[in-house]
Amino acid sequence: MATSCCAGNQKDLAAAMQRHRFTTTQRLRTFLVMADDKTRNEAGNIRDALRVSQLDATELDTQLFEVIKAQLNNIFTYFKPQFLVKYSPEINAIIRSILWKYSVGSDASTIGQQLLDLKYMNTRSTCPDDLWMTRRQRLAHACLFVGLPWLDERKAQLKASTSSVPHSEHFWYAVQWISKAVRILSLLNFLVFLTRGRYQKLSERLLGIAAVFPHPVGSRQIGFEYLDRELLWHGFAEFLFFILPLINFRRMKNFFSRHLSLRSPATKEQRSERDFTECTVCGLWPFNPQQIGCKHIFCYYCIQSNYAADVRFTCPECGHGIAGADGIAPVVLETGS
Ligand SMILES: [Zn+2]
Ligand SMILES: [Zn+2]
Repeated sequence: MATSCCAGNQKDLAAAMQRHRFTTTQRLRTFLVMADDKTRNEAGNIRDALRVSQLDATELDTQLFEVIKAQLNNIFTYFKPQFLVKYSPEINAIIRSILWKYSVGSDASTIGQQLLDLKYMNTRSTCPDDLWMTRRQRLAHACLFVGLPWLDERKAQLKASTSSVPHSEHFWYAVQWISKAVRILSLLNFLVFLTRGRYQKLSERLLGIAAVFPHPVGSRQIGFEYLDRELLWHGFAEFLFFILPLINFRRMKNFFSRHLSLRSPATKEQRSERDFTECTVCGLWPFNPQQIGCKHIFCYYCIQSNYAADVRFTCPECGHGIAGADGIAPVVLETGS
């Protein structure tokens, strides 16, 4: 209706120009002003959405659908598994129709587009006052958004159930070819979208709807402070990964324990029976017991690994040092005869 009103305005103007015998220059000026008005409407307030925003919106829609489906699967966790599998196409169609109802059905934009401040514009509208999706376009969108995926998912069962109907195989053969053609056309459409920036999906091209920024400041604002922070943390983490293997923590720990504690080395003679049953490093029964000159006993692995990491390793209990690699010796039990 608005389209005809606009066309009517243009006709009236043309008639008025004819009546008042406008000169060619005057006509040209009027035409330019009108064209400029239209351009201002389209290019000033409404701008084509960026390709990346359109792709992001589609990605968000897909993710939203997946999230809702996962939640639904959680609800039906304790039902028979066949239930969800059997009615999966119908459940998907119900989810899609609910999503459609509260997105394109009510606001002429998908939920992903709403999050990115995009809206579907009717590219076939010639009237600058009425640029949004018409009711007919919305209903056609519902058919393509809900009906076609359902048909695609139910195809195999429908084909099996109609096998007794005469000539049904010709119909399904045609459906198969159409779906192949749609796939190829979708790919071509996407390549055109990448170069032109309009009609990301084949359905959008067929319906004549394109995603636009409806508001003048609706362009994509990137918060660079988050980006900077992310980069900084990333750099810091990489630096840590580089530096950590170069720090000998065992040596640092030994250094501090050596200098901060006041201990006097305990001699072998002070060794009690309990010392034989406990490794001074790991606290367990000493495996292949070793000694370094003090009364304390170590597992072979515990003392050798500590000495390999730090040649100035001292006994953690009494602070007795190791006199070279020969300072570590197996414990020999002297049995009195
Ligand atoms: Zn040990
Ligand atoms: Zn010791």
